[in-house]
Amino acid sequence: MSGPQRGPGIAGLSANLAVAGAGLSGAVIAREMAEAGHRVTVFEGRDHVAGNCHTKRDAETGILLHVYGPHIFHTDDEGVWNYVNRFQTFRPYLHRVKITSGGQVYSLPVNLHTINQFFGTAMGPDAARSFIAAEADAHIESPETFEEQALRFVGRRLYEAFFKGYTEKQWGCAPSSLPAAILKRLPLRFNYDDRYFSHRFQAMPETGYTDMVARMLDHDVINLRLNTPFRREWLPDFDHVFYSGPIDAFYGFDEGRLGYRTLDFERFIHPGDYQGCAVMNYADRSIPHTRITEHKHFAPWEEHGASICYRETSRACGENDIPYYPIRLVQEKQQLSRYVARAAAEKGVSFVGRLGTYRYLDMDVTIREALDCAALFQHCRKHDLPVPAFAIAPL
Ligand code: UDP
Repeated sequence: MSGPQRGPGIAGLSANLAVAGAGLSGAVIAREMAEAGHRVTVFEGRDHVAGNCHTKRDAETGILLHVYGPHIFHTDDEGVWNYVNRFQTFRPYLHRVKITSGGQVYSLPVNLHTINQFFGTAMGPDAARSFIAAEADAHIESPETFEEQALRFVGRRLYEAFFKGYTEKQWGCAPSSLPAAILKRLPLRFNYDDRYFSHRFQAMPETGYTDMVARMLDHDVINLRLNTPFRREWLPDFDHVFYSGPIDAFYGFDEGRLGYRTLDFERFIHPGDYQGCAVMNYADRSIPHTRITEHKHFAPWEEHGASICYRETSRACGENDIPYYPIRLVQEKQQLSRYVARAAAEKGVSFVGRLGTYRYLDMDVTIREALDCAALFQHCRKHDLPVPAFAIAPL
């Protein structure tokens, strides 16, 4: 097929735009562009919108499934919070995670309860702080790897019980070769606050992320084409393209495939309540899965008799698998820099989102960046400036 007819050009009032991908980045940009008066065609290779945060009601049980694994909305960004609330009713949801390690169940992220339970103590916050400081390796001044970060802040015993095995299973490599930033996602608390996230706004979309994204895309001048992956030869048909697909795929993998981890979900049904919480992590190497998610607990305001669980395992992403987590080790970063150099020379394309910039992004950051990218586009048009390929440098 060929794309729609060319628009009035960059200097005209209304541009003819394409968005590749109907995930969060694509949907937010499409919506912003439509509201700014442009015409937008959204190309989506899958048969549904919302990318990997896709949710679907299970026909048999009525449970709202997080089809590609758990997605919990959390943010401190009030602008993003107000934005998503335009398209969906959000219900309060505080994410709490448990972890099984060595045959016992503990509270996560590591908090005073975890510390006391693990060491068989009854310490208060100050005593626990001193205790962990003695456990930690103070010789590591500025931790660069995941392992150094763990040893520096929690010490070897907690690291080996809760992080080492899980991380080896999740990332398929030694924590000593992973960046510290991955562990910095998790807090360490010296009180009994066991919320997984510390953000001010934490919630779940009442009717699901797919419904939210569908409402974003429900606009007179947005033309949504499902089952239609964007093709590079359509670039000249548009005044500008916002590309949220994998950056290496855009270039036909010329510089090699960027490494991702993919996930497998083994689904099982359980009568009643299987594990009593939404997410149970499994720290031990001897257990192949990283976690089990029990989806009905993501919607505590709903009532369901039966339960659907996903047993989750991680592995290297093959050519026909769904990419989830960008690995970003030294080799991938070198490849990425070659793709970024090529992308920076493009005219008429912006690379956005987790796959377009090859970064591990939370949903709120994805939405913030999409809003900023849309604003940058408008700014560039107004001042007759070239639109940069990246609103955020991916390296
Ligand atoms: N992690 C771990 N043990 C856990 C939970 C997380 O070692 O029980 C590490 C693991 O390397 C993981 C990272 O911390 O990739 C970030 O965890 P998070 O829960 O943010 O990962 P996500 O839910 O995005 O997969």
